[in-house]
Amino acid sequence: MITLKKIGFIGIGLMGAGMSRNLLKAGYQVTIWNRTESKTKTITEAGAKLAKSPKEVAENSDIVISMVTGSDDVKEVLLGEKGAVHGAKKGAVFIDMSTISPKATVEIAEELAKKGIEMLDAPVSGGVIGANNGTLSIMVGGKEKIFNEHKPILEVMGKTITYIGGIGDGQVCKAVNQILVGTTMLGVAEALVFAAKAGVDVKKVHQAVSGGAAGSWQLTNNGARVLEGDMSPGFKIKDYLKDLGIIMETADANKMPLPATSLVLQMFRYCQAENMLNDGTQAVVKAVEVLASKKIS
Ligand code: NAP
Repeated sequence: MITLKKIGFIGIGLMGAGMSRNLLKAGYQVTIWNRTESKTKTITEAGAKLAKSPKEVAENSDIVISMVTGSDDVKEVLLGEKGAVHGAKKGAVFIDMSTISPKATVEIAEELAKKGIEMLDAPVSGGVIGANNGTLSIMVGGKEKIFNEHKPILEVMGKTITYIGGIGDGQVCKAVNQILVGTTMLGVAEALVFAAKAGVDVKKVHQAVSGGAAGSWQLTNNGARVLEGDMSPGFKIKDYLKDLGIIMETADANKMPLPATSLVLQMFRYCQAENMLNDGTQAVVKAVEVLASKKIS
Protein backbone atom coordinates (compact mmCIF):
# COMPACT_ATOMS: atom_id res chain seq x y z
CA MET A 1 0.00 0.00 0.00
CA ILE A 2 1.29 3.47 -0.88
CA THR A 3 1.34 5.84 2.10
CA LEU A 4 0.15 9.28 1.05
CA LYS A 5 2.28 12.17 2.24
CA LYS A 6 0.95 14.30 5.09
CA ILE A 7 -0.08 17.76 3.96
CA GLY A 8 -0.21 20.97 5.95
CA PHE A 9 -2.43 23.80 4.73
CA ILE A 10 -2.02 27.39 5.95
CA GLY A 11 -4.75 29.89 5.04
CA ILE A 12 -8.35 28.70 5.05
CA GLY A 13 -9.78 31.68 3.18
CA LEU A 14 -12.15 31.67 0.19
CA MET A 15 -9.65 29.71 -1.90
CA GLY A 16 -7.92 27.63 0.78
CA ALA A 17 -11.21 26.18 2.06
CA GLY A 18 -12.07 24.45 -1.22
CA MET A 19 -8.48 23.43 -1.94
CA SER A 20 -7.93 21.83 1.48
CA ARG A 21 -11.30 20.10 1.27
CA ASN A 22 -10.32 18.53 -2.06
CA LEU A 23 -7.08 17.22 -0.54
CA LEU A 24 -9.11 15.59 2.24
CA LYS A 25 -11.50 14.09 -0.32
CA ALA A 26 -8.51 12.62 -2.17
CA GLY A 27 -7.53 10.76 1.02
CA TYR A 28 -4.66 12.93 2.26
CA GLN A 29 -4.17 13.53 5.97
CA VAL A 30 -4.38 17.33 6.21
CA THR A 31 -3.37 19.58 9.11
CA ILE A 32 -4.64 23.15 8.83
CA TRP A 33 -4.14 26.52 10.45
CA ASN A 34 -5.93 29.81 9.91
CA ARG A 35 -5.32 33.13 11.67
CA THR A 36 -9.07 33.44 12.27
CA GLU A 37 -9.84 30.06 13.77
CA SER A 38 -13.61 30.20 13.21
CA LYS A 39 -13.07 29.75 9.45
CA THR A 40 -11.53 26.31 9.99
CA LYS A 41 -14.70 24.70 11.38
CA THR A 42 -16.11 23.22 8.17
CA ILE A 43 -12.72 21.84 7.18
CA THR A 44 -12.03 20.21 10.56
CA GLU A 45 -15.55 18.75 10.36
CA ALA A 46 -14.53 17.29 6.99
CA GLY A 47 -11.60 15.54 8.70
CA ALA A 48 -8.69 17.99 8.93
CA LYS A 49 -6.54 18.24 12.05
CA LEU A 50 -6.30 21.74 13.53
CA ALA A 51 -2.90 23.14 14.46
CA LYS A 52 -2.23 26.07 16.80
CA SER A 53 0.37 27.76 14.56
CA PRO A 54 2.05 27.45 11.15
CA LYS A 55 5.00 25.92 13.04
CA GLU A 56 2.74 23.17 14.38
CA VAL A 57 1.35 22.61 10.88
CA ALA A 58 4.88 21.92 9.63
CA GLU A 59 5.66 19.62 12.58
CA ASN A 60 2.78 17.40 11.41
CA SER A 61 3.40 17.54 7.64
CA ASP A 62 5.71 16.40 4.85
CA ILE A 63 4.43 19.13 2.53
CA VAL A 64 3.29 22.59 3.63
CA ILE A 65 0.95 24.55 1.35
CA SER A 66 0.35 28.26 1.96
CA MET A 67 -2.61 30.16 0.52
CA VAL A 68 -2.68 33.59 2.16
CA THR A 69 -2.93 37.11 0.76
CA GLY A 70 0.29 38.91 -0.19
CA SER A 71 4.09 38.74 -0.04
CA ASP A 72 4.40 39.96 3.57
CA ASP A 73 1.72 37.52 4.70
CA VAL A 74 3.53 34.56 3.13
CA LYS A 75 6.77 35.72 4.78
CA GLU A 76 4.98 35.89 8.14
CA VAL A 77 3.38 32.42 8.01
CA LEU A 78 6.47 30.71 6.61
CA LEU A 79 9.40 32.64 8.12
CA GLY A 80 7.89 34.63 11.04
CA GLU A 81 8.19 33.95 14.76
CA LYS A 82 5.68 31.06 14.69
CA GLY A 83 6.35 30.36 11.03
CA ALA A 84 6.31 26.94 9.37
CA VAL A 85 10.07 27.01 8.86
CA HIS A 86 10.59 26.48 12.61
CA GLY A 87 8.67 23.20 12.59
CA ALA A 88 9.72 21.79 9.23
CA LYS A 89 10.69 18.12 9.07
CA LYS A 90 13.84 17.02 7.27
CA GLY A 91 13.14 16.89 3.52
CA ALA A 92 9.98 19.00 3.80
CA VAL A 93 8.73 20.83 0.72
CA PHE A 94 6.82 24.12 0.90
CA ILE A 95 4.38 25.02 -1.88
CA ASP A 96 3.17 28.62 -1.88
CA MET A 97 -0.05 28.96 -3.89
CA SER A 98 -0.83 32.59 -2.95
CA THR A 99 -0.43 35.30 -5.58
CA ILE A 100 2.67 37.22 -4.49
CA SER A 101 5.65 38.94 -6.09
CA PRO A 102 8.27 36.88 -7.97
CA LYS A 103 10.98 38.85 -6.09
CA ALA A 104 9.55 37.99 -2.66
CA THR A 105 9.19 34.38 -3.77
CA VAL A 106 12.90 34.13 -4.58
CA GLU A 107 13.76 35.77 -1.22
CA ILE A 108 11.57 33.30 0.69
CA ALA A 109 13.01 30.32 -1.23
CA GLU A 110 16.54 31.49 -0.38
CA GLU A 111 15.69 31.63 3.34
CA LEU A 112 14.08 28.18 3.20
CA ALA A 113 17.05 26.75 1.30
CA LYS A 114 19.31 27.71 4.24
CA LYS A 115 17.28 25.18 6.30
CA GLY A 116 17.33 22.55 3.53
CA ILE A 117 13.69 23.16 2.56
CA GLU A 118 12.71 23.07 -1.13
CA MET A 119 10.02 25.45 -2.36
CA LEU A 120 7.67 25.62 -5.32
CA ASP A 121 5.65 28.71 -6.24
CA ALA A 122 2.30 27.55 -7.58
CA PRO A 123 -0.17 30.43 -7.94
CA VAL A 124 -3.57 29.68 -9.38
CA SER A 125 -6.25 31.04 -11.66
CA GLY A 126 -9.87 29.96 -11.73
CA GLY A 127 -11.40 31.63 -8.69
CA VAL A 128 -13.43 30.19 -5.85
CA ILE A 129 -15.42 27.99 -8.23
CA GLY A 130 -12.17 26.45 -9.52
CA ALA A 131 -10.92 26.00 -5.95
CA ASN A 132 -14.14 24.26 -4.89
CA ASN A 133 -14.34 22.06 -7.97
CA GLY A 134 -10.64 21.18 -8.16
CA THR A 135 -10.39 22.74 -11.62
CA LEU A 136 -7.82 25.50 -11.02
CA SER A 137 -5.12 26.40 -13.52
CA ILE A 138 -1.85 26.11 -11.59
CA MET A 139 1.39 27.69 -12.84
CA VAL A 140 4.49 26.37 -11.18
CA GLY A 141 8.04 27.57 -10.57
CA GLY A 142 10.87 25.74 -8.83
CA LYS A 143 13.09 22.74 -9.51
CA GLU A 144 11.55 20.50 -12.17
CA LYS A 145 12.33 17.34 -10.18
CA ILE A 146 10.44 18.70 -7.15
CA PHE A 147 7.58 19.73 -9.44
CA ASN A 148 7.32 16.24 -10.95
CA GLU A 149 7.32 14.62 -7.50
CA HIS A 150 4.50 16.87 -6.28
CA LYS A 151 2.40 17.13 -9.42
CA PRO A 152 -0.13 14.51 -8.20
CA ILE A 153 -0.96 16.73 -5.21
CA LEU A 154 -1.46 19.75 -7.47
CA GLU A 155 -3.68 17.61 -9.72
CA VAL A 156 -6.08 17.15 -6.82
CA MET A 157 -6.62 20.93 -6.75
CA GLY A 158 -6.34 21.81 -10.42
CA LYS A 159 -7.10 20.69 -13.94
CA THR A 160 -4.35 22.47 -15.89
CA ILE A 161 -0.97 22.17 -14.20
CA THR A 162 1.90 23.84 -16.07
CA TYR A 163 5.56 23.80 -15.13
CA ILE A 164 6.89 27.23 -16.15
CA GLY A 165 10.53 27.24 -14.95
CA GLY A 166 12.72 28.21 -12.00
CA ILE A 167 11.57 29.58 -8.65
CA GLY A 168 9.38 32.70 -9.08
CA ASP A 169 8.48 31.88 -12.68
CA GLY A 170 5.02 30.63 -11.66
CA GLN A 171 4.39 34.07 -10.16
CA VAL A 172 5.58 35.79 -13.35
CA CYS A 173 3.08 33.66 -15.27
CA LYS A 174 0.33 34.64 -12.82
CA ALA A 175 1.24 38.32 -13.36
CA VAL A 176 0.83 37.71 -17.11
CA ASN A 177 -2.59 36.24 -16.38
CA GLN A 178 -3.52 39.36 -14.40
CA ILE A 179 -2.31 41.72 -17.17
CA LEU A 180 -4.65 39.87 -19.52
CA VAL A 181 -7.55 39.89 -17.05
CA GLY A 182 -7.33 43.66 -16.41
CA THR A 183 -6.71 44.89 -19.93
CA THR A 184 -9.51 42.67 -21.24
CA MET A 185 -11.92 43.79 -18.52
CA LEU A 186 -11.25 47.46 -19.21
CA GLY A 187 -11.74 46.81 -22.94
CA VAL A 188 -15.07 45.11 -22.22
CA ALA A 189 -16.20 48.01 -20.00
CA GLU A 190 -15.17 50.65 -22.55
CA ALA A 191 -16.84 48.79 -25.45
CA LEU A 192 -20.14 48.34 -23.62
CA VAL A 193 -20.30 51.99 -22.50
CA PHE A 194 -19.42 52.99 -26.08
CA ALA A 195 -22.48 51.06 -27.30
CA ALA A 196 -24.70 52.67 -24.64
CA LYS A 197 -23.46 56.17 -25.48
CA ALA A 198 -24.21 55.56 -29.17
CA GLY A 199 -27.76 54.66 -28.16
CA VAL A 200 -27.82 51.05 -29.35
CA ASP A 201 -29.19 48.06 -27.42
CA VAL A 202 -26.21 47.00 -25.30
CA LYS A 203 -27.61 43.52 -24.55
CA LYS A 204 -27.98 42.78 -28.28
CA VAL A 205 -24.45 44.08 -28.92
CA HIS A 206 -23.10 41.86 -26.13
CA GLN A 207 -24.86 38.85 -27.59
CA ALA A 208 -23.65 39.62 -31.13
CA VAL A 209 -19.96 40.06 -30.30
CA SER A 210 -19.54 37.41 -27.59
CA GLY A 211 -19.31 34.48 -30.00
CA GLY A 212 -17.03 36.18 -32.54
CA ALA A 213 -13.34 37.02 -32.73
CA ALA A 214 -13.71 39.55 -29.89
CA GLY A 215 -15.18 36.95 -27.56
CA SER A 216 -13.50 36.28 -24.21
CA TRP A 217 -14.21 34.91 -20.73
CA GLN A 218 -14.32 38.48 -19.41
CA LEU A 219 -16.84 39.56 -22.06
CA THR A 220 -19.09 36.53 -21.60
CA ASN A 221 -19.07 36.41 -17.80
CA ASN A 222 -18.17 39.84 -16.42
CA GLY A 223 -19.76 41.59 -19.41
CA ALA A 224 -23.06 39.85 -18.58
CA ARG A 225 -22.74 40.97 -14.95
CA VAL A 226 -22.19 44.57 -16.08
CA LEU A 227 -25.40 44.40 -18.12
CA GLU A 228 -27.31 43.19 -15.04
CA GLY A 229 -25.74 45.91 -12.87
CA ASP A 230 -24.25 43.09 -10.75
CA MET A 231 -21.02 44.33 -9.16
CA SER A 232 -20.64 41.45 -6.68
CA PRO A 233 -17.28 39.66 -6.67
CA GLY A 234 -15.99 37.03 -8.39
CA PHE A 235 -12.62 38.61 -7.98
CA LYS A 236 -12.43 41.61 -5.66
CA ILE A 237 -10.98 44.96 -6.72
CA LYS A 238 -8.79 45.05 -3.58
CA ASP A 239 -7.15 41.76 -4.62
CA TYR A 240 -6.69 42.99 -8.17
CA LEU A 241 -5.00 46.17 -6.90
CA LYS A 242 -2.57 43.91 -4.98
CA ASP A 243 -1.84 42.05 -8.20
CA LEU A 244 -1.35 45.31 -10.12
CA GLY A 245 1.30 46.19 -7.52
CA ILE A 246 3.07 42.89 -8.24
CA ILE A 247 2.88 43.50 -11.99
CA MET A 248 4.30 47.02 -11.68
CA GLU A 249 7.11 45.91 -9.33
CA THR A 250 8.12 43.20 -11.79
CA ALA A 251 7.92 45.59 -14.76
CA ASP A 252 10.08 48.12 -12.91
CA ALA A 253 12.69 45.47 -12.16
CA ASN A 254 12.82 44.53 -15.85
CA LYS A 255 12.55 48.13 -17.15
CA MET A 256 9.45 47.09 -19.06
CA PRO A 257 6.96 49.76 -20.18
CA LEU A 258 3.36 48.71 -19.57
CA PRO A 259 1.20 51.37 -21.25
CA ALA A 260 -2.04 49.39 -21.31
CA THR A 261 -1.72 48.01 -17.78
CA SER A 262 -0.77 51.47 -16.45
CA LEU A 263 -4.05 52.79 -17.78
CA VAL A 264 -5.86 49.87 -16.18
CA LEU A 265 -4.20 50.81 -12.86
CA GLN A 266 -5.42 54.42 -13.10
CA MET A 267 -8.99 53.26 -13.78
CA PHE A 268 -8.89 50.93 -10.78
CA ARG A 269 -7.53 53.84 -8.69
CA TYR A 270 -10.90 55.50 -9.34
CA CYS A 271 -12.58 52.43 -7.85
CA GLN A 272 -10.20 52.63 -4.87
CA ALA A 273 -11.00 56.32 -4.36
CA GLU A 274 -14.71 55.51 -4.52
CA ASN A 275 -14.31 52.80 -1.85
CA MET A 276 -15.32 50.00 -4.21
CA LEU A 277 -12.63 47.63 -2.90
CA ASN A 278 -15.03 44.77 -2.19
CA ASP A 279 -16.79 44.97 -5.55
CA GLY A 280 -15.84 42.64 -8.38
CA THR A 281 -13.39 43.81 -11.06
CA GLN A 282 -16.28 44.34 -13.51
CA ALA A 283 -17.13 47.44 -11.43
CA VAL A 284 -14.34 49.26 -13.30
CA VAL A 285 -17.17 49.99 -15.74
CA LYS A 286 -18.24 52.72 -13.29
CA ALA A 287 -15.00 54.61 -13.97
CA VAL A 288 -15.69 54.45 -17.72
CA GLU A 289 -19.29 55.56 -17.17
CA VAL A 290 -18.07 58.66 -15.29
CA LEU A 291 -15.70 59.58 -18.15
CA ALA A 292 -18.42 59.04 -20.73
CA SER A 293 -21.11 60.66 -18.61
CA LYS A 294 -23.30 57.72 -19.57
CA LYS A 295 -24.60 54.80 -17.53
CA ILE A 296 -25.22 51.44 -19.19
CA SER A 297 -28.37 50.75 -17.19
P1 NAP B 1 -9.14 35.45 1.43
O1 NAP B 1 -10.44 34.76 1.41
O2 NAP B 1 -9.08 36.89 1.80
O3 NAP B 1 -8.18 34.61 2.38
C1 NAP B 1 -6.90 35.04 2.72
C2 NAP B 1 -6.35 34.08 3.73
O4 NAP B 1 -5.04 34.50 4.10
C3 NAP B 1 -7.17 34.02 5.02
O5 NAP B 1 -7.14 32.70 5.49
C4 NAP B 1 -6.38 34.96 5.94
O6 NAP B 1 -6.58 34.70 7.30
C5 NAP B 1 -4.98 34.61 5.52
N1 NAP B 1 -4.00 35.66 5.85
C6 NAP B 1 -3.82 36.85 5.23
N2 NAP B 1 -2.81 37.53 5.80
C7 NAP B 1 -2.34 36.74 6.79
C8 NAP B 1 -1.29 36.89 7.73
N3 NAP B 1 -0.52 37.99 7.76
N4 NAP B 1 -1.08 35.90 8.61
C9 NAP B 1 -1.86 34.79 8.59
N5 NAP B 1 -2.86 34.57 7.72
C10 NAP B 1 -3.10 35.55 6.83
O7 NAP B 1 -8.39 35.36 0.02
P2 NAP B 1 -8.50 34.24 -1.11
O8 NAP B 1 -9.49 34.68 -2.11
O9 NAP B 1 -8.61 32.90 -0.48
O10 NAP B 1 -7.06 34.43 -1.79
C11 NAP B 1 -5.90 33.78 -1.35
C12 NAP B 1 -4.81 34.00 -2.40
O11 NAP B 1 -5.25 33.44 -3.63
C13 NAP B 1 -4.48 35.46 -2.67
O12 NAP B 1 -3.10 35.61 -2.88
C14 NAP B 1 -5.29 35.76 -3.93
O13 NAP B 1 -4.72 36.83 -4.69
C15 NAP B 1 -5.19 34.44 -4.66
N6 NAP B 1 -6.27 34.16 -5.62
C16 NAP B 1 -7.57 34.45 -5.31
C17 NAP B 1 -8.57 34.18 -6.25
C18 NAP B 1 -10.02 34.49 -5.95
O14 NAP B 1 -10.83 34.51 -6.91
N7 NAP B 1 -10.42 34.70 -4.72
C19 NAP B 1 -8.23 33.64 -7.50
C20 NAP B 1 -6.91 33.31 -7.75
C21 NAP B 1 -5.93 33.58 -6.81
P3 NAP B 1 -7.87 35.32 8.07
O15 NAP B 1 -8.98 34.38 7.79
O16 NAP B 1 -7.47 35.37 9.49
O17 NAP B 1 -8.11 36.69 7.50
